[in-house]
Amino acid sequence: TNPIDNLGEQAVELPGYQHIYSGKVRDLYAPTDPKLDDRLLVVASDRISAFDFVLQTPITDKGKVLTQLSLWWFEVLAEQDPTLRHHVISTDVPAEVSGRAMVVKKLEMYPIECIARGYLTGSGLLEYNDRGTVCDLPLPAGLVDGSKLEPAIFTPSAKAEVGEHDENISYEQMIQRVGEEVSAALQEKTLKLYTAAEEIARARGLILADTKVEYGADPATGEITLGDEVLTPDSSRFWDADDYAPGKSQKSFDKQFVRDWLTSDASGWDKNSGEQPPALPGEVVAKTRDRYVQAYEQLTGRKFTA
Ligand code: ATP
Ligand code: MG
Repeated sequence: TNPIDNLGEQAVELPGYQHIYSGKVRDLYAPTDPKLDDRLLVVASDRISAFDFVLQTPITDKGKVLTQLSLWWFEVLAEQDPTLRHHVISTDVPAEVSGRAMVVKKLEMYPIECIARGYLTGSGLLEYNDRGTVCDLPLPAGLVDGSKLEPAIFTPSAKAEVGEHDENISYEQMIQRVGEEVSAALQEKTLKLYTAAEEIARARGLILADTKVEYGADPATGEITLGDEVLTPDSSRFWDADDYAPGKSQKSFDKQFVRDWLTSDASGWDKNSGEQPPALPGEVVAKTRDRYVQAYEQLTGRKFTA
């Protein structure tokens, strides 16, 4: 398992909130006022993970960039699809976490990562090379890394414990976990979201290769509601449309510098050693920050201000 047990200690104390959970990247808080117990505060930290490790070096402004990008998408998606329900309530948050937190509706999360893929790569490619399928869905022969999938496919995965790999599952296995009706609805919503977002990204020179979203049930109404973060470089693969070509591994928009450096001789680290990766040099941090900011600015057309 991944030695990230000190994450909770990194979570700051916030007036009016109690820290309840830290994931790899985000810290969750509950309001101390019992009248507000239908809400959560989601704070995005500057933590970055690579090769399933949370690195010890934060990426300056990453939490802000991802929160602002996510908020932008929630708004754009809801505008495009008036039937979409999402969890954002407000961005009125304590000054300590200003810009990188949002107040959300507390949902009963489904234990499924809903993934849509319009291109074959990553864990999908591994299964395809092995068995010709992705999440047990048979795909045409002859596909390579980066091949476009038409139509895009829905490939659920089961949410794993901290430090464990999420595990791709078949649609049948998803039904066993959340039932037939919810599975069908999640599949439909995820593919619809992907299709809308892919088109928006493409118009801005980016390919949205795949994306992961999480839904929960609104405890008050039972409605399936989009939660978590959406369409950020942490949850999605964005590729430069200009640089894209099937048959090679595409440059990831965010973590490429981190991955390249960690696997280079300069880092002195062996990713199969099981040891915690070393601290990142300032230059790698700066370049990575620039990539996140660039993704934000290219997608939203807005200037990022820290
Ligand atoms: P990973 O690093 O693999 O993503 P994680 O998903 O446990 O681990 P984070 O993404 O850092 O951790 O933390 C966000 C957590 O908050 C997730 O467990 C997510 O399912 C949960 N979550 C997101 N939105 C809501 C919501 N509206 N109500 C309840 N839980 C939520
Ligand atoms: Mg998560």
